[in-house]
Amino acid sequence: MPGSPFIIVAIDGGAASGKSSTARALSERFNLLHSDTGSYYRAVTAEMLRRGAVPQDLGSVKRALADLRLATRIEGRSARIEISGHLPGDEIRSREVNDAVSHFSAIPELRSSLLAYQRGQAEAARKGGFSGLVMEGRDIGSVIFPDADFRFFLHADPAERERRRVRQGQVDRVAERDRLDSSRKTAPLSLSEGAVSIDTTHMTIAEVAELMAGIIAGQAAKP
Ligand code: C5P
Repeated sequence: MPGSPFIIVAIDGGAASGKSSTARALSERFNLLHSDTGSYYRAVTAEMLRRGAVPQDLGSVKRALADLRLATRIEGRSARIEISGHLPGDEIRSREVNDAVSHFSAIPELRSSLLAYQRGQAEAARKGGFSGLVMEGRDIGSVIFPDADFRFFLHADPAERERRRVRQGQVDRVAERDRLDSSRKTAPLSLSEGAVSIDTTHMTIAEVAELMAGIIAGQAAKP
């Protein structure tokens, strides 16, 4: 869309609901920087575990958070987090991180330490010459960018989401993570008012991405 305004697209939803694949497809289609905030929470969790912090001991978490230096490395269309000069790898998808991430993510101090970083991705997208930002997570449309131009909420049957993770070769208790993410006090996973809700259970990724792209293109074409 040459000459069109900078857009922010927020995608929220439970584990394995289709956020990452559709966000990647939209980033290609509309030249958007793709920011996967789940990978940020995973990377910070891996770092907490590495430093011996435990979610039950707030002091240990605060001490570990105090000297984290966060930076962004743009690779292709993807905004990757760097922690204290280190670019996290596959360890953020490990079983240990899958089991711990929702416990660390429920801690308000840990969420605050990522807030400005996530909002700053809009500036990174502008500077990088992108036409906008597509950010996926749990609280993007509700907390991080409540004024986003487009806000989507993806959901799918838990059994289908477990199957998707198995097909990806991962051990992940998606229902348990969703329960923790939905019931926490700070920024819980929830459908925010005005977001477009899509049930992806019986849809392919391509179909979901097509539906979302149609909504974005239709709106952007309006005078
Ligand atoms: O998206 P993904 O399943 O990789 O996210 C991992 C975990 O990170 C979630 O289960 C949730 O606990 C946390 N998260 C969050 N807020 C976000 C993104 C992820 O609390 N915006």
